[in-house]
Amino acid sequence: MAEHDNLTVIDHPLVRHKLGILRGTGTSSKLFRELVDEIMSLMAYEVTRGLEEETVEIVTPLERMTGRRLKGKKPVIVPVLRAGLGMVDGMLRVMPGARIGHIGMARDEVSLEPAEYYFKVPSQLGERQVIVVDPMLATGGSASAAITGLKERGATRVTFACLVAAPEGVRALGEVHPDVHVFAAGLDRQLSDIGYILPGLGDAGDRLYGTRD
Ligand code: URA
Repeated sequence: MAEHDNLTVIDHPLVRHKLGILRGTGTSSKLFRELVDEIMSLMAYEVTRGLEEETVEIVTPLERMTGRRLKGKKPVIVPVLRAGLGMVDGMLRVMPGARIGHIGMARDEVSLEPAEYYFKVPSQLGERQVIVVDPMLATGGSASAAITGLKERGATRVTFACLVAAPEGVRALGEVHPDVHVFAAGLDRQLSDIGYILPGLGDAGDRLYGTRD
């Protein structure tokens, strides 16, 4: 696979502007949450571009016509806990009928691999487009494990949306799940020795929820 065939970086001045403010250390949790929400509403338009459609007969007050509608069961947005939660409302604004699943991933203390501690998703995953959301695609370990869990439960059409991606994470996810396209508001330089994205924005969960002073 050529470098990052699996990645679309959203090309929009408002997304770049808001991402810049999001990164800055002076941005409060309140503003951080608002910006994540606004960026996701803007990204949702691109992230949902690949949703499958089908034709449908419509009766207007004047005529019958053939129109289009989304195919299959309602799409599912799946935040990876906890930081992914901050991305849900922005997506829902554009796709209010979507279902919501939740996946909790934590590092297993023995294997050091990401392990599921919570998994709740709607039924008939195979008939739904699944959009996994997590702000930071760093090593790709938890994203990859979350998607593996979804596929084990029947998901076949999965998309991943994040705010900031590291090249290492995009590559790792593409190796394990070449069928999963990644959408990001920004692609950063690299991972640090301890797995933070550089320049990044720090710990997305802490910044969303104000859990570190
Ligand atoms: N998770 C975060 O919240 N930030 C990073 O930079 C990497 C992983």
